[in-house]
Amino acid sequence: MADDSSNDESPEVTGPVNCVLVVARDGSIKATLQSGDNNTGKDPAIEKAERIDAIWGGGIGVRISRNIRRVLRDRCYCSDEIREGEGGTNAEFIFVAQGRDSALVVVRDLANRDGELTRMHKLAYIDETTGLPNRELFLIELKNIIEFQQLREGRIAVMTIHIDKIDESRGAFGPAQQDAVFAELAQRLRKDLRGANSDDKSDYDRRSVIARTDFRDFAIILPSIESGADAEAVAERVIASIARPVRVGNRDLKLKAYAGIALYPQDGAEAEALFENAVAAMEDASCSHDIDVKFHTGTVKLRTLQRQDLELELKTALDTEEFDVNYQPVVDAKTGRIRSVEALLRWPESILGTQSTRKIVSIAERTSLIVAIGTWVLRRSCEQLKTWKDKGYESLRLSFNISPQEFSRSDLAQSISAALIRAGLQPSDLDIEINEHILFRDAMKNYSTCRALKRLGVGLVVDDYGIGSCSLAHLSHSPVDTIKIDNALVAHLETSGRDNAACDAAISMAHALGLEVIAEGVETEEQARLLTDLGCDMLQGYHYYSPMSGDEIAGFLELSATGRRTRIVRGA
Ligand code: C2E
Ligand code: MG
Ligand code: MG
Repeated sequence: MADDSSNDESPEVTGPVNCVLVVARDGSIKATLQSGDNNTGKDPAIEKAERIDAIWGGGIGVRISRNIRRVLRDRCYCSDEIREGEGGTNAEFIFVAQGRDSALVVVRDLANRDGELTRMHKLAYIDETTGLPNRELFLIELKNIIEFQQLREGRIAVMTIHIDKIDESRGAFGPAQQDAVFAELAQRLRKDLRGANSDDKSDYDRRSVIARTDFRDFAIILPSIESGADAEAVAERVIASIARPVRVGNRDLKLKAYAGIALYPQDGAEAEALFENAVAAMEDASCSHDIDVKFHTGTVKLRTLQRQDLELELKTALDTEEFDVNYQPVVDAKTGRIRSVEALLRWPESILGTQSTRKIVSIAERTSLIVAIGTWVLRRSCEQLKTWKDKGYESLRLSFNISPQEFSRSDLAQSISAALIRAGLQPSDLDIEINEHILFRDAMKNYSTCRALKRLGVGLVVDDYGIGSCSLAHLSHSPVDTIKIDNALVAHLETSGRDNAACDAAISMAHALGLEVIAEGVETEEQARLLTDLGCDMLQGYHYYSPMSGDEIAGFLELSATGRRTRIVRGA
């Protein structure tokens, strides 16, 4: 759990501030990710240091070593503020466990950044609307609780709760009111669980954890339950409490919730697996329309007939090559010119109906079909890019979305390389978009896949950035080139100070780490202007272009290349 140990003695900061290091348990520096800021430039003392005690000695050195040992032992993060006397330097040290043997150490000058890092820090682990832990902190907590219960052979229930129909409020209520709704729900959840569990932070035996793990999802850990029935009773209580009208202005909003439950140890021995299985059970509940709470069954994730039908149709569509690819341009924020196109899977309505792409992709992800579909999309879109390049759009790049299953293939880099060679393209023509959940779910393992892709020479983009589990620590340690800020943050940019601050922080942080930033879901002139003012490098969304067929896009490429103002295409 996050902790702040700033309240004991505060030795003076005698070393530099503003740097990001990866430090091994024994104090040796494994990597220097940053050693200064835009004003100061790189700090040679940090760049050449081999051990952390060569940079910070004395009391601070001791304190740093203690914190590193502590985060490695507890597999957590902590922050430590070190203040000099009046007029002196104040620095915040953040320590984040990276695997078993090293820790990320982020050092920031508190005087310079005026709370910016605190904000980023919070953005990284705390959902600002509700004040609850986010998905990442939830998983850290779950790991800790599992480790504790493992020793005692105790049981744990992980419950995820999806708030249905909240979207309907978007039209009727503004984002501020919508936030108020989630804050109220969080308050109710806290109240519902109090009494059933201890609030004592050190009591892993009885302490429940509540988190907001996605825009519409909460998750709860119930440690030390006796049986599944206990968890079901809590879930029913929570659902009933969410169903009580929420007062927004002078109106009452009625919400419905679905819950999924996974039990430790039978539904997963690891935090991620347990959580994913609770999510799968929750999705099952929300598809069933008549059951509000479902348990994970261990094996059956896709239980509804409807899903099985879709799977079959998906397979047929693949066999008969009835899929298609649409392309959505990404434009340079300063010039408005098209820099790249994102390939998006499409299909004829007669085959799979009007399902959303996300749904089709998530069904394909639960079967091995996604690998074949992904291979097909990559082949088709590489061929298309080649025809554009042959027409003279040499600098145009292609970006391609990748799913967890594809990402975990050991031959991923080889298969991408084969597709590029076959189409006559260079690796530098391609960007791979990885959802931030995937990349950071098993960061150490996934970073090595990323490195293989980097060796190949393709670009890496973190898609849907800012709504999930990505932390400052992760980003500074990940081998990515670009972040793509999610639609959800862009949508309320004009009205929500919080979303504006989040975009601002994400852009500054990415730039400090040498990454480029794309914002997706840009629908209005004002959003485009605000993002450009914040320094965003590239923009994508209906304000510029909707996804469209390869043929449709050709004309726009020509206009863009000649620098003429491109036509705005609206619609989905
Ligand atoms: P994504 O990669 O984040 O793609 C952006 C989504 O936002 C696309 O939805 C796009 O049509 C939509 N969009 C574009 N401009 C705007 C806008 O201004 N406002 C709003 N509200 N939305 C906008 P789409 O095409 O339905 O795709 C959904 C998701 O499905 C994608 O999210 C991506 O994660 C996944 N996906 C699509 N094609 C593939 C594929 O070939 N392979 C894999 N693995 N996933 C894919
Ligand atoms: Mg994408
Ligand atoms: Mg996205």
